[in-house]
Amino acid sequence: MRQIHYQEIVDRVKELCQEANYDLGQDVIQAFEQAVQTESSDIGKGVLTQLIENANIASENRVPMCQDTGVSVFIVKLGQDCHIAGGSLYQAINEGVKQGYEEGDLRYSIVDDPLSRKNTGDNTPAVIHIELTEGDKLEIQMTAKGGGAENMSALKMLTPSDGLEGVKNFILDTVKHAGPNACPPLVVGIGIGGNFESCAYLAKKSLFKPVGERHREREIAQLEEELIQSINALGIGPQGLGGNTTTLDVKIETAPCHIAALPVAVNLNCHASRHKHLVI
Ligand code: SF4
Repeated sequence: MRQIHYQEIVDRVKELCQEANYDLGQDVIQAFEQAVQTESSDIGKGVLTQLIENANIASENRVPMCQDTGVSVFIVKLGQDCHIAGGSLYQAINEGVKQGYEEGDLRYSIVDDPLSRKNTGDNTPAVIHIELTEGDKLEIQMTAKGGGAENMSALKMLTPSDGLEGVKNFILDTVKHAGPNACPPLVVGIGIGGNFESCAYLAKKSLFKPVGERHREREIAQLEEELIQSINALGIGPQGLGGNTTTLDVKIETAPCHIAALPVAVNLNCHASRHKHLVI
């Protein structure tokens, strides 16, 4: 049994939170650069150029790329031959978030109760999903998920008779309804199948994949490409100011589901599409 110490996880998670907020991934920056070439509107081109400049300034000056530093969401793959020594994995991740946000001058965006709404003062608790895997490694994926895009996300329990057309219509309606409020250009994460809660998780999980990477199955990859075109034809554009870059990418994950069900979840991510990854 391999041992990983609590403190190592705290330190690495702390760095991960700061990197996520300061350093936009090269996959997203490349997608901005490509979009500058293909964007039809001059205002849209200008917004995309500013987003690249903003990402560069954030990285060089170690400041957050957006004032909304998000909910810290983790997908953790814990090898079954790995033991966390000195404390619990949940505590270690939350302590890393606390230190990362406090020391990194990142905004605290979490309230302790959805109705009484007192800020917890350290951006905890994080949302932590743990998957048990084979082996002795600990893989941690983190995103700082912005509130605007999350608020415009949606889930619908379609029925099999709605079919693929129903799925596509729901996705397009969700993006249309979001308009500028989700801070486009977006990354659109889609879950199809599973049940009510696992469908939402599929959509969230898809957002951790690199922008520009197509699904491993050809049919789903084609659907992703078709949706990119349809969403960009909506004309919402960068920051909602018009243009043909409403989304940088569409990611789909699917899962088996009940014979009577066709759940679809659309989890929108804004242009600050911040996802980081480490393996211990
Ligand atoms: S949704 Fe994204 S870009 Fe918009 S304010 Fe929140 S983090 Fe920033």
